[in-house]
This record gives sequence, structure tokens and C-alpha cells, in this order.
Amino acid sequence: RGGPENLPILSQHLDSFDNEEKEELRHRPKLVVLGSGWGSVSLLETLDPNDYDVTVISPTNYFLFTPMLPSAAVGTLELKSLVESIRNIIRRVNGHYLEANAEKILFSEKLIKVSVKDAEGKNRPFYVPYDKLVVAVGSTSNTHGVQGLQYSHQLKTAEDALTIRKKIACNLERACLPTTSDEERKKLLSFVICGAGPTGVEVAAEIFDLLNEDLCRGFPKILRQEISIHIIQSRSHILNTYDKAISEYAMKRFENDSIDLLTNSRVKEILPDEVVFDQKNEKGEIERKSVPFGLCLWSTGVAQNPLAQDIVKSLKSSQQNRRAIETDTQLRVIGAPLGDVYAIGDCSTVRTDLADHTAEYVRQYIHSKHYSHIQRHSSIITDDDIRHVNLSHTELKELSSYIQCKNPIATEALALMHEFIPKYDTTNSGHLSFDQVKAMLKEVDSKVTSLPATAQRAHQQGKYLGKKLSKLVKTHITLSINDIVDGDIDNAISKPFKYTHLGSLAYIGNSAVLDLPGYQIVGGLMAMYLWRSIYFTQSVSMRTRVLLFMDWLNRGVFGRDILS
Ligand code: FAD
Ligand code: MG
Ligand code: MG
Ligand code: MG
Ligand code: MG
Repeated sequence: RGGPENLPILSQHLDSFDNEEKEELRHRPKLVVLGSGWGSVSLLETLDPNDYDVTVISPTNYFLFTPMLPSAAVGTLELKSLVESIRNIIRRVNGHYLEANAEKILFSEKLIKVSVKDAEGKNRPFYVPYDKLVVAVGSTSNTHGVQGLQYSHQLKTAEDALTIRKKIACNLERACLPTTSDEERKKLLSFVICGAGPTGVEVAAEIFDLLNEDLCRGFPKILRQEISIHIIQSRSHILNTYDKAISEYAMKRFENDSIDLLTNSRVKEILPDEVVFDQKNEKGEIERKSVPFGLCLWSTGVAQNPLAQDIVKSLKSSQQNRRAIETDTQLRVIGAPLGDVYAIGDCSTVRTDLADHTAEYVRQYIHSKHYSHIQRHSSIITDDDIRHVNLSHTELKELSSYIQCKNPIATEALALMHEFIPKYDTTNSGHLSFDQVKAMLKEVDSKVTSLPATAQRAHQQGKYLGKKLSKLVKTHITLSINDIVDGDIDNAISKPFKYTHLGSLAYIGNSAVLDLPGYQIVGGLMAMYLWRSIYFTQSVSMRTRVLLFMDWLNRGVFGRDILS
């Protein structure tokens, strides 16, 4: 027992003596990973076995292949093809798993407060100690403060997908009963989707395909005419994080498919069987409207997970972002003891603080340009010199390349700097003053603080951190004191994390849209084929790959299986 609340402290796992490897590992540093999603699993797959005594804590004992969850929700794919047991995944690193919720991190004691419910539903909290902690707890759905969400469905977990699937089947059957009135039937067959990001759009497309391709086999023909699909979106476009061409293609496609797109519309409330929303018309007037539903999906973006909120709150002034845990470019949580705690995936964001370092960057840049032959530089360039610099456009471009090599996370951001130069050169003098440079970097910072909440990003961060953690253990002994500046081992052994955008994809009704850096592909079988093959190769295990393949084959030959 111990810690501030005098709770039991976990000292060994039930399986700590199961085999020789596990016994050996008891003497290794303790690595605790919170969560069993994209970030955690990529990390666990990259980590070398036998470096750490690994413990995964998560309330879900499986990894979920989220990009294909919309397909599972309507029965295009079997759910079992999209999940992988976390116990299978940790076997490679001889890790331990605890099905529990992490509630709080005690940074100075290096303890995690974990809670589980016993058979009577009573809370049984305990502490898990760590040497290194990785927080990868993901995000929750954004409620936008709307009332009545309990009448809608979300699509985040495997259970969600099952519930939606059952509900669709149940509504279709009820629509066929002789006791169901015409009006009731229309309502049962009305699908309302709030939010037109990739998830909302994909679910709409999947439902549309289902109804068109499979409903005619076996269900009364009249159902087809009474079905309606509505998408409520607050902006004027759907898929608005994608390239404009893609967004327009998707809108056109949906219009042809007679999917009802309600743009410029904000959901006000969800009632048991209708969604109330305000729609702005062309004149800018707001009209209150409503649409009845048999099934309503809520997918309007992500919000902060409770543990992440608690972490940000307990690190107070060090954390400046309201939406995610801020890390440095080595993915270490800012404000926690250096190198103890990392955060990856949806729950985190990498801070870029270029503006705060303006003076430093300018000083180093001037030095490297004019005084590189002189060893020490601080005395040559005075603070006054820096405050009075006037950098030409060419010099600014050199400065931006200089910052870029110091701070690779900002690569994308610094492309922005080139665009901003004219904007901040208010007098058209061809030069920017120190204050103008600083203001410009501030705007650049504000544009890049958050990386996208995608599997792609979580996966890249997990891989980066897995590699680094293994390297840390091994080089700890061989590094000499001189290699480590300011006690920063991470910086000595690894480059900062760099996000590579590989493109976005979305499925929109027997075709797909791909937004790859530099070019876009829309529509047709080619896009669909690409969409599938990309995920096919990303999918975690051979077992999953075989299952997914069988599902597609099965669907191609026999149609979907909505009723099971
Ligand atoms: P997650 O994968 O969400 O994992 C979080 C884990 O933490 C879960 O296991 C959870 O149970 C656990 N957890 C939560 N709270 C606690 C706690 N207190 N203690 C311990 N464990 C906890 N991204 C793409 O790039 N492409 C796509 O096509 C795509 N499609 C998507 C479709 C859907 C329907 C959804 C829901 C998401 C989609 N995403 C897609 C987004 C992607 O799934 C997320 O960005 C990704 O899962 C983030 O990974 P993560 O590791 O941060 O969190
Ligand atoms: Mg995770
Ligand atoms: Mg996941
Ligand atoms: Mg998707
Ligand atoms: Mg995360």
C-alpha cells in the first residue's frame, strides 16, 4: 500500500512467473501503456521484445480497426475481421494486460491510479507503478452541448457497430409488419446522420449501398421507395477537411444518389424520434426545421478523453492547449518530469512554439550567416542588434529553412511562412522587422498546433516512440555524459517526431475518394480498389487479412448479411 490515498500498489502480475522470459523481465524498467488503440498497438509492434516489463492498461481488450467500422455497422464486413485481441498483440513483447480504466497520473510518485469494478459494481482502485508511461487513450465524441444524444447512436467501438446493425435490421423488420402505418414506416426507414466528416459520409454511403444492393432480395419492394437518408452538416460542404475537388465530387455523387444533404444546418436538439436543427438559407436567415428518424447517427468530431482532461488540469500552467495534451517534438508530455511520460495519438498534440524562440532563431541565423568562422557568438550579436534587424525576403526564406532544420515538426508550417511574408510586410518595404517576424511566427504556430486526429497520425507516433523507447534502453549505458546536453537523453539519441501526411481516403458509395498529397483521385472502381488495398496491407495480422478477404468475397457473391 502507499501513495497519497494509501491504495494497494501492484508489485507483480499474476503471470509474472509464467515463463523464464517474463521472470527475467521483472528486472527491466517498467513501461506502462494506456489504451489499446492505434497508437498503443503501433508502439507495441515496434518495440523490441525483452527491453521493458510492459503492461497495457485499457478498458477494451481488443484493438479495433476503425477505418472499416462503418462497413461493419451495416454488415458489409464482419466485426470479427476488424478486431484483434490485445493479448495476442502483447505476447510478442511478453507483456501483461489489465482490463481497467486509468483515472489519474501521480507524476511525482510515478504511479497510475487505476480503477476496476468488482462483481457487485463496487469501485476497487489501486496503483500501478511505472518508469516510463505512454498515454494513448484516444478521444471521445464531441457533444457540442446538444441535448438528447441518448436517442442517437455513436460509432466509436465494436459494440456501437453491433448496436447500429441490430437497429437497422430491427427497423426493416418492423417496417414490414401489417400493424405499422405508412407514416411510421417512413419514420422507421429514415436515417439521419449528424456530421459530414469521413465517418458520417461513409456510414451514409454504406447504408445507401445496402438498401440498393441487398434490400431488393427478400424485402417488400415498397420499402425501397420509403427509405430516406439525411445528412445534417453545419458547414456548406461535406468532407471539408479534404481537397475541394473531392468535397464537390462527394456532394454531387450524393445528390445523384438522392441522399438529402442539409448543409449550413446546426443541430439544436435530438428528440426520441426527430432531430431539430437550425438551417441558414441563402439570405442568411435562420429557419427552425426538424426531420424524423428511425436511426440517428451522431458523428460530429472529437473531444477530449476524461483522463487527458485530468492530465492537462493537473499540469496546470505548463499545458496551454485546451483540446489535447501538449507534448514536445520528442512526444514527451510538457510539464511532467522530463522523459517519464509520453503522449501519442488523438489525445495529444505536438506544440510548436516558434514565436517564443524568435530571438534565438534570428541570433543563430545571423551568426551562421556572418560569423560562422568565430566560435562563440553570443557576445557579437547583442540583444539590441536583434531587436533592430530588418530582414529582406531572401533572408526570411533563409531564416525559414534554418528554422526548419532546427525544428522538423514545423516543415508544413514553414511553407506557410512564405505565404505570410507579404501579409506582414505591411509597408511594402521588402523587409520585416523583428516584431513583424515574431507576429508572423505566432500566426504560423496557431495554424499548426494540432496534428489530425487520425489513425495515420497515431500509427506514425506509435512507431516512432516504440523505436525510440527500445533505443533508449540500449544506449543508456553507452552514451557518455558529453553526448547529453542538459540531461536530455531523448534529444541525444533520436530526431524529433515528424508527421508525414500520406493522404486521406473516404468511401462514398461503391467508389472512394483519395486525397493524396499533390493529387486527388475520385470515383470509380479504381479508387475503390485502392481504398481497399491500402487498408488491406495496413491491417494488423494475417488472421485479420484472411478474414477481411473472405468478407469481401462473401459480400461480392452473396450480398450483405444484415440480419445476423
Ligand atoms: P484509439 O485508437 O481511440 O484508442 C484509445 C484506447 O484507449 C482505446 O483502447 C480505449 O479503450 C482506451 N482508453 C480510453 N480511456 C482510457 C483510460 N482512461 N485508461 C486506459 N485506456 C483508455 N483514421 C484514419 O486515419 N483513417 C480512417 O479512415 C479513419 N476512420 C475512422 C472511422 C471511425 C468510425 C472512427 C471512430 C475513427 C476513424 N479514424 C480514422 C480515426 C482513428 O480511429 C483515430 O484517430 C485513432 O484510433 C486514434 O488512435 P489512438 O491510439 O489515439 O486512440
Ligand atoms: Mg491507443
Ligand atoms: Mg483504435
Ligand atoms: Mg474512415
Ligand atoms: Mg491517443
